[in-house]
Amino acid sequence: MDAPRRFVVQRHRATHLHYDLRFEIDGVLASWAVPKGPTLDPEARRLAVHVDDHEMEHLGFEGVTSSAGDRRRDVVVWDTGTWEPVHTDDPAAAVRAGELHAEVHGEKLRGRLVLVRRGEDERRWLLLHKRDEHAVVGWNPEDHPRSVLSGLTNDELPVDPS
Ligand code: MN
Repeated sequence: MDAPRRFVVQRHRATHLHYDLRFEIDGVLASWAVPKGPTLDPEARRLAVHVDDHEMEHLGFEGVTSSAGDRRRDVVVWDTGTWEPVHTDDPAAAVRAGELHAEVHGEKLRGRLVLVRRGEDERRWLLLHKRDEHAVVGWNPEDHPRSVLSGLTNDELPVDPS
């Protein structure tokens, strides 16, 4: 049997706060930027912007990437774990076709996430959580901001003194 596929969600403060949702598919991390973050709330429909695949090294990355100027930029590993594609053995083809169903086993995110491409701009997708036993109405990722690796919030990450 193949090794379980990994996923990661990074809470990324850059020009705008967003969450980067990344699924291991064929040796890279298929990635979406989700401004309001993923949720367990089955009533939420979140914009997810499909971005370039990232290298697997991004799985464990957190740190302060810039502390210059008045806007600090930083990343925490907000959640991570394993996942399985649902309804397909070829998730890369599912992404190309514009619909990916993922059963996720994270520390915060559990259950069935669905990503669906929407509209003219092929980068625009919707992210939702199915109404399953892990769904929680009203669940807000901003109420659970800490890194699952370090336990730190974005604000608490130390600036690398190099
Ligand atoms: Mn990002």
